[in-house]
This record gives sequence, C-alpha cells and structure tokens, in this order.
Amino acid sequence: MYRNFSVVPKVMFGRGCFGQLDEILQPRRISANSYMVFILDDVFQGKTLEGRIPLRDKDFLLHVNVTDEPKTEYIDKLVKRINDYAPVLPDGVIGIGGGSTMDIAKAVSLMLTNPGSAADYQGWDLIQNPAVYHVGIPTLSGTGAEVSRTTVLTGPEKKLGINSDYTLFDQMVLDPELIADVPREQWFYTGMDCYIHDVESLHGTFLNEFSRSYGEKSIELCRQVFLEDREDKDDKLMMASLFGGMSIAYSQVGACHALSYGLSFVLGTHHGIGCCITFDYLDEVYPQGVREFREMMTRHRIDLPRNLTKGLDDEAFDTMVKVALGLTPLWENCFGPDWRNTMTHERALELFKKM
Ligand code: NAD
Ligand code: ZN
Repeated sequence: MYRNFSVVPKVMFGRGCFGQLDEILQPRRISANSYMVFILDDVFQGKTLEGRIPLRDKDFLLHVNVTDEPKTEYIDKLVKRINDYAPVLPDGVIGIGGGSTMDIAKAVSLMLTNPGSAADYQGWDLIQNPAVYHVGIPTLSGTGAEVSRTTVLTGPEKKLGINSDYTLFDQMVLDPELIADVPREQWFYTGMDCYIHDVESLHGTFLNEFSRSYGEKSIELCRQVFLEDREDKDDKLMMASLFGGMSIAYSQVGACHALSYGLSFVLGTHHGIGCCITFDYLDEVYPQGVREFREMMTRHRIDLPRNLTKGLDDEAFDTMVKVALGLTPLWENCFGPDWRNTMTHERALELFKKM
C-alpha cells in the first residue's frame, strides 16, 4: 500500500523574508476579537528578533524554554495559558525557534482544538479535529521539523510523536538570516541530524525514487555546508534540512535514530547530540557515512562526549535496549524484515556500553 501523504502547502524562502510575516498573517486574521499566538524560544528574549515579531493589539507572545526537550505536560500547561488568556481560539499559532519550539507550536495548535492531554494523542493518526492554523519558522536547521507530520513529545509513559496530517504546518517561513548566530556546536549537532537522516534514508531498504531524489540533494548540500567553506552555507543548510525531512517522510530513519531514542529516553540526551554520539559507533552499519561524519567533526573541531553510559545499572541498559529495539519500522528500514537476526539484544547492549 502506498501512503498518500500531505505536505506543507505554503513556503516562503529567502534572506530577510521574516520581514514579510505580518503580510503572511494578515489574511489569516479572520475572526473579530481574535489574536495570534507567537511561540518564541526564550533564547531570543530581549533580542532583535523578538522586536521584529509583528505583534498586533491582542496578540499573545509566549516564551518557551527548551532546556528539556518538549514534554506533554508542558504542552498542556501552555494550552491552559492560552485558554486563560482569551475566551476564543486564536486565529493562528506561530512557532519561532529550533526543532523543539516548532514541535511545541505544532502540539499547541493541535491541542487547542482536541480535548484532553497531549499524552492521549502520542501515536499515529489519533487526532480527530484539525489544528488551529500554524506556522513554523526555524532558527536552527537540521531536524526537518518544519516539514514533518510529527511533533516529538516525551510523555509520562513514552517518547513518541503526535503523528497526523493535521500536525503539518500550514506555512513555513525559511529565512537563512535567522540561523546565522547559532553557536558552533549546536549548529553542528542539529546539522548532523539532517546528514544522518540522509544516510539512513539512502541506505534503507524502504528507499524509493521519491526519497532518493530528496535525500541525494540533501546530502550533497550537507557536504557543501560541512566540508567546504561556503558563504551561502546557511541557505544551503536550510534547504538540506527541508529535503532531508522530505526524504524520510516517504521512507524512514534507521539504526542511529532507533539507538539514540533509547539513549535519550534513559539519559535525556538531546536529539542532535544523541544522534552524533550514536552514529560514531555505527561504522559497521554505515561505513561510508560514519567516515565522512568523522571528517566533518575534525573539520569543525567537535569533541563528542564519551562514557555517557558508564556506571549505569543493568535495568537502565535493559530499558535503553528495549526502547531502541521497540522501533520496528526503523530497524526494518535498516536491515530488512529479518532485522532481529542482525540487531540482537546483545549487539544493541554492546553498542550502548561503548557510548
Ligand atoms: P532545539 O530546538 O532543542 O534547540 C537547541 C538549542 O539551540 C536550544 O538551547 C535553543 O534555545 C538554541 N537555539 C535555537 N535557535 C537558536 C539560534 N538561532 N541562536 C542561538 N541559539 C538557538 O534544537 P533542534 O536540534 O533544532 O531540535 C531538537 C528537537 O527537535 C528535539 O526535541 C527533537 O525531538 C525534535 N525533532 C523533531 C522532529 C520532527 O520531525 N518533528 C525531527 C527531529 C527532531
Ligand atoms: Zn533526527
């Protein structure tokens, strides 16, 4: 069966295009007494970007903190704050930040129109009602969250996305100027998330021409960004992230993402850095990709943290392995339907013990 998947219908791309946000939102300000909610990564509090947000009279600016990756509990609290702010739904929710902030904006826009807790919807196609109009504006590139049909959340029981067609943004605004000042290490880790999406998609058994076309272009752009000196590297990384996201949308990620989910579930390791730590131990699975990744690390003087799992007890290791091996589609994409013969409990455990 082929999937009939939705894509983000409106895209604006270009240096300085953030300046056109007011114009984009104007036709969406449809109800009297309504307002827009701007969800801004608090790293921008008091910064120039905050001052450029086109706030109108009743608009609500919500700062969010992403020190921890988004939790369902946090989403529920933000939704309550919006409901307390006004008796009517907002006309739109605009997320400005990295993957975490964009995921928060997606989840909030869904939970404003669906009853209960965000935790009730972690899974596939559980959402019943369309979300409030929502816009994604990345300030950090690599996750592909701007284009994906998921919002990754940690709930009381699991770390799992709210996957649905309603999750997709209605509009993305891709302004390469917004990613210019990301600290070097964060830029690298999130950028490598994109590179790893490409490697896993291109080396997966689910590969098809749709995914290959996007994945090949994305990895070519990543090479230009991370192995060459390019003035337009921010423009290129923004497009790489988008294309990487499109590539995995119609295939799947693989071993690195599965293992990094296990690591992050137990240790709270963030997505980008967690993928980098894991990928560095996967030479047997993705030999060429890992070789090139190390070249990129050397070039950008990245020292990955080591010995993260040292001293963990058997129970913690067991949870890590179970979370990782529970992600069947990722392993099937990586090794095919008989993946359990290749990635056994022992092999996964051995890999985690090295990290
Ligand atoms: P992030 O959003 O967690 O941000 C990382 C850090 O960078 C934060 O401290 C943030 O404040 C800071 N930051 C963001 N923009 C900045 C800027 N322009 N200048 C300075 N600092 C800036 O990082 P991320 O790697 O973009 O996102 C990771 C999150 O995305 C995880 O929660 C992960 O689960 C999620 N994710 C989602 C998808 C999806 O499809 N929805 C895919 C992959 C990852
Ligand atoms: Zn990823």
